Amino acid sequence: MWVNLALPLRKIIRMSTFEDLNLSNQLIYGIQDLGFSSPTPIQEQSFSVIMSGKDMVGIAQTGTGKTLAYTLPILQQLKFSKQVSPRVLILVPTRELVVQVVENIEAFAKYTSSRVCGIYGGANINTQRQAVAQGCDILVATPGRLYDLCLDHTVKLRDIKKLVIDEVDVMLDLGFRFQITNILELVPPKRQNIMFSATMTEDVAKLIEDFFITPVKVSIAVSGTPLANIEQTAYEVENFYTKVNLLLYLLKDKMLYNKVLIFVSNKRSADRLFEAMKAVFGSEIAVIHSNKTQNYRLRSIDQFDEGKNRILISTDVMARGIDLEMVSHVINFDTPTYPENYIHRIGRTGRAKQKGKSILLFTKREEESKVAIEELMDYSIPMLDFPNEVKISEELAPEERPINTEPNNSHRASDGEEGGGAFHEKLEKNKKVNLGGSYKRTIAKKYKKPLTRGDKNVAKRIKKRK
Ligand code: ADP
Ligand code: MG
Repeated sequence: MWVNLALPLRKIIRMSTFEDLNLSNQLIYGIQDLGFSSPTPIQEQSFSVIMSGKDMVGIAQTGTGKTLAYTLPILQQLKFSKQVSPRVLILVPTRELVVQVVENIEAFAKYTSSRVCGIYGGANINTQRQAVAQGCDILVATPGRLYDLCLDHTVKLRDIKKLVIDEVDVMLDLGFRFQITNILELVPPKRQNIMFSATMTEDVAKLIEDFFITPVKVSIAVSGTPLANIEQTAYEVENFYTKVNLLLYLLKDKMLYNKVLIFVSNKRSADRLFEAMKAVFGSEIAVIHSNKTQNYRLRSIDQFDEGKNRILISTDVMARGIDLEMVSHVINFDTPTYPENYIHRIGRTGRAKQKGKSILLFTKREEESKVAIEELMDYSIPMLDFPNEVKISEELAPEERPINTEPNNSHRASDGEEGGGAFHEKLEKNKKVNLGGSYKRTIAKKYKKPLTRGDKNVAKRIKKRK
């Protein structure tokens, strides 16, 4: 392209191959074995930032090659050492990601001297103790197990020079903020922080603000163009339970709707939808979100992937990172408020030449979000007529009940009980927030720990014991 000529020549060359990143031969050989010909955009753009030693935040969609994006510069800079305690710490949210990242690093680093080790919960802790005691350069860990092994001094974090937090959005969604915070207090303050996430959420932004020093942001914008392989449609629907009725009606057609992924923005709605649909679809349907145990989630995903379950309900964060094949339909049960999430969602169908379909269900209240999505894509989602056969439900979900007098809900405004109920619920919610969340309290009890990061007692206690 002529436009590229405006760029410095060096830049054009740099964009082309791994060799141009001035990687060591050992790394080049490792990459050649894997058959990768050129770095992906996130890999290319992260490389020089991480090499420079600055804090970095990388935002790019699932499947864009983020693992290699942080692994390459880290391996390139890692010098041979026989020391036991690790110099690089990589935090990931789940056990299977630990395994996956360790495998990846072992493959890339096949011809180097770098040692990598993985630790995660739900597996024998003594085996992992022994593995860590052998010494490693790069430690890949889930926060919970790592913290346990720090408390008993098996793992020493005093030599950590680089900290990577991968899949931060998932990590925070799983409620790991407290554990991340504790670990951040155990690693030396003079270190490089690197963070990767599929999307920017408010939680992620807060963590960056609290712990990062003027990070460089590398963001690979999600493409707003509708994915050519996906046939998008939308229904305007009255409310939550009418959406349920519509799905019950549509999904009766098992031939057409043979592998359906339903996205819901939060756990409570996911559970509520699951309960409502289970009565009709029984064992054909499963739900995953971060309150479900890991075993349950893995089993549900496998059964869906293998075709044993036809319908899977998932929250946005949960469905990332998992690779699903041949999804026939993606259903947006609600309309994402971050328009990028819509692109993430529908991208789960229409993979590899097969044609995919997506359906967006939106209420009046969600119309604004729909418009934002259409603006991002520069495309109007074709509307479908609401089927006459489907019953319009009068039942309102808790979040749909009016809190104050609302103009379009005037018939409800006079209904004292409804309004009162919602008001009390709000108060209850506020109370919970003030207590710091049940997850934090449970963990605090488990570790007999203070609730806030402001309290440095733990770090002191650990130091004293050394
Ligand atoms: P992410 O963390 O962004 O979801 P991964 O790091 O898991 O992505 O990589 C997704 C897939 O792409 C993996 O199967 C990986 O082996 C492959 N991959 C990564 N980098 C490249 C590359 N430069 N060329 C070809 N394939 C790649
Ligand atoms: Mg990843």
